[in-house]
Amino acid sequence: MSITLERIEMFHIAMPLLAPFETSFGVTTERHTLLVKAITRDGVVGWGEWAGDGPGYSYETEHTAWHILKDYLIPLAFRAPFSDPRDVVQRFRAVRGHNIAKAALEAALWDIAAQQAGLSLAAYLSQVTGLPTRDRIPVGVSIGIQPSPEALVERVAGFLEQGYQRIKIKIKPGRDVTDARAVRRAFPQAALMVDANSAYTLQDVNVFKQMDDLGLMMIEQPLDYDDIYDHSQLQPQLNTPICLDESIHSPDHARAAIALGACRIINIKQGRSGGLTHALAIHNMCAAAGVPVWCGGMLESGIGRALNVALAALPNFTLPGDLSASNRYYAEDLIDPPFTLEADGTLRVPQQPGLGVNVIEQRVRRATLQHLSVRSDAIQ
Ligand code: MG
Repeated sequence: MSITLERIEMFHIAMPLLAPFETSFGVTTERHTLLVKAITRDGVVGWGEWAGDGPGYSYETEHTAWHILKDYLIPLAFRAPFSDPRDVVQRFRAVRGHNIAKAALEAALWDIAAQQAGLSLAAYLSQVTGLPTRDRIPVGVSIGIQPSPEALVERVAGFLEQGYQRIKIKIKPGRDVTDARAVRRAFPQAALMVDANSAYTLQDVNVFKQMDDLGLMMIEQPLDYDDIYDHSQLQPQLNTPICLDESIHSPDHARAAIALGACRIINIKQGRSGGLTHALAIHNMCAAAGVPVWCGGMLESGIGRALNVALAALPNFTLPGDLSASNRYYAEDLIDPPFTLEADGTLRVPQQPGLGVNVIEQRVRRATLQHLSVRSDAIQ
């Protein structure tokens, strides 16, 4: 089926977080992001969300994304009708990098393509990959750095009570071994992992050796954000699996990391990887190599969350993802109904066509700082 885009809109939005979120690279109190709304000639509407952060996370910010989308990617999407979002991904190769911007627009196209096929996005991904998808996915929670190890233990207790299947704590130098030990002592059976967000170097190997007997599921991204080689030197010194997150910017990075033994687990972030097409390729490559994956989060609203949930329904997502309920981060989500945690620590994969969630445009507009609408005939 040929899909012709008529209009693409962008919204630069600001969403206040319920509580500040601290990682090794800073504190976030309000999430600024972009939403992309694509409309076909037949009136089908698709949504995508830019899944980035400030320049401490990537060279891409919501402002670079606005520029690259407006001046390059949107014109490429309008260039010709498409039958499969992967056709448009091919066109995006004309722009190097800017993966998160590409992914935001690609997401809206997948939403449209699934709706045109009359399928939920998860069912559509099942159709295009030939793989089965689940209707519920196990979820974990990611907890920012707390004022003290005692406060952290208290936070963890609350989330375990809510039923989250896995606890991830953020660490940074000086707040690592003591925090991880305190949580492990309080909850000997909990599925526990740490995320260093690239705050260490190979010189810090002893920090990780001290955590090696805590029965952690994994140590996420201990070393530099674009490193693979140093991780390949660290992994053989540890029993605990290393999970790469920030280092994986493409299927090629995943292939190199697996070949070098730099990690035993990968956290797939569809945005940073350049979109759903690349995320599917990484998923399949990891499955073939016996490397389990899980789905990371970027504090997305329900729009980006819905895409992540559909992706995480694929079979090699065997570990719980950072896909908390909507009320974990925001007082009011942009979708209704919001994502809620089931009693068994899972989220339901939406079954309605496309992303399968209702975007409340009134709330989008309330959060909007800047809006742009581009018609295809204004460009061609
Ligand atoms: Mg991470």
